[in-house]
Amino acid sequence: MSNQPSTSARCRPFESSSSAVPDAVPVTIAPVIIVGASLGALRTAEALRRAGYAGPLTVIGEEPHAPYNRPPLSKEVLSTGVSHSAVAFPARAATADVEWMLSARVVSADLEARTVTADDGRKHPWRALVIATGLRSRRLDLPLIAGRHTVRTLDDAMALRDELVPGASVVMVGAGFIGCEVAATARKLGCEVTIVAPGAEPLIRPLGALVGAELRRRHEQHGVSFALGRTVAAILGEVAFEGLQLDTGEVIAGDVLVEAIGSVCNTDWLDGTSLDLTDGVLADSALRAVSTDGTAHDDIYVVGDIARFPNRMFDDVARRIEHWNIPTDTGKRVGAVLGAWLADDGSFAELVTREFTPMPAFWSNQFEVGVQAYGLPALTDGDIRILQGELSGAVAVGYYRADRLVGVVGLGLKAELLPYRQQITALASGKLT
Ligand SMILES: Cc1cc2nc3c(=O)[nH]c(=O)nc-3n(C[C@H](O)[C@H](O)[C@H](O)COP(=O)(O)OP(=O)(O)OC[C@H]3O[C@@H](n4cnc5c(N)ncnc54)[C@H](O)[C@@H]3O)c2cc1C
Repeated sequence: MSNQPSTSARCRPFESSSSAVPDAVPVTIAPVIIVGASLGALRTAEALRRAGYAGPLTVIGEEPHAPYNRPPLSKEVLSTGVSHSAVAFPARAATADVEWMLSARVVSADLEARTVTADDGRKHPWRALVIATGLRSRRLDLPLIAGRHTVRTLDDAMALRDELVPGASVVMVGAGFIGCEVAATARKLGCEVTIVAPGAEPLIRPLGALVGAELRRRHEQHGVSFALGRTVAAILGEVAFEGLQLDTGEVIAGDVLVEAIGSVCNTDWLDGTSLDLTDGVLADSALRAVSTDGTAHDDIYVVGDIARFPNRMFDDVARRIEHWNIPTDTGKRVGAVLGAWLADDGSFAELVTREFTPMPAFWSNQFEVGVQAYGLPALTDGDIRILQGELSGAVAVGYYRADRLVGVVGLGLKAELLPYRQQITALASGKLT
């Protein structure tokens, strides 16, 4: 049986369509459906077209917006008046005939019948399915009153920026990347900012206490206050946010509450399927979704923040990585592998076994500090070394596991990190002992 479908849905780039594929479409001419319409979905669609797949391709996304870039949400979108057009990814000619179904939430999937069901009740058959539903913000378990914010979507950021007026008092719960970035942006806008977090230092989990303490020092220099080693006991205010009571009994008054306490994987729509949904969706190194019995599905793939896959650059453990380059790298991989499966040209078996070792990379901007990292610093066994420079200035910090470099973080350095990046890669390919 050929895998090549014979029809194609057509509409303009990122133009939203409400058309639905009729229920009775034979699976051989059903589209490839990508659920989630963000970076991972876009890069997968582009890569599928590059791989030669010319058949129907539908992207179903819950947000009303065409794919846009999230990193500016905690930075420029809060500090300037930009809207969707400033952060939208450019539409490329290769994906001009992709059908975009926006403002449509997928509520369930039937892997045997090969369908997904949207929130309007309509079923959409698929020939192959790509899971690209990413994450949503975790919320504090507190009464829903006005003045509570998170920052995951463009609409979240636009709602928050209206409240970041000079003199406003912002209480940030969470000291991870998003918490620290939003805190820095709010402070630059003239807000009073207090960060509340359970850890001993900000960013302690991804970067360790040494770099975390240095970043705290830099935030404090700019007037950010910290309440570390504390958790939230209660919210103050009946109708609108007035402050937080901490576990110590201490009260922090405020006008705006930002919750940056991590994320929840958007896997609800896959509940009841056979897929392994332990922390995201388990995939093999070809990014085929894996069931709890270990079966890898040739027609179901996972990309982006939600994909938990093994990266033999480090070891055989499957992990999720919430960095901007991962939706792109996984999207390209799925485009190639799934493209080969759809083409049915004999190349699939070889592609599936090919190593997939993307280099995790992220950056963060907090006040004048550019943080750049490669590898997985959190894998360190506690052996953290200053490789170059001084902690209080521009510095490169190495993270070692069993005496091997697994991550590097630079404060105020970029190109200088490339040799260390190379060391991490070389280690993976066995060029270093
Ligand atoms: C505020 C912020 C700042 C960031 N800054 C940086 C940075 O500086 N550097 C860096 O490396 N990374 C950064 N990141 C991380 C980076 O943006 C993410 O890794 C990337 O956006 C993940 O893309 P994705 O396509 O996997 O998922 P997402 O971008 O989360 O997209 C998933 C999409 O799926 C949709 N969806 C979910 N469920 C359903 C459903 N059931 N049906 C239909 N659609 C659904 C969602 O609405 C969403 O649009 C930042 C992230 C945020 C939120």
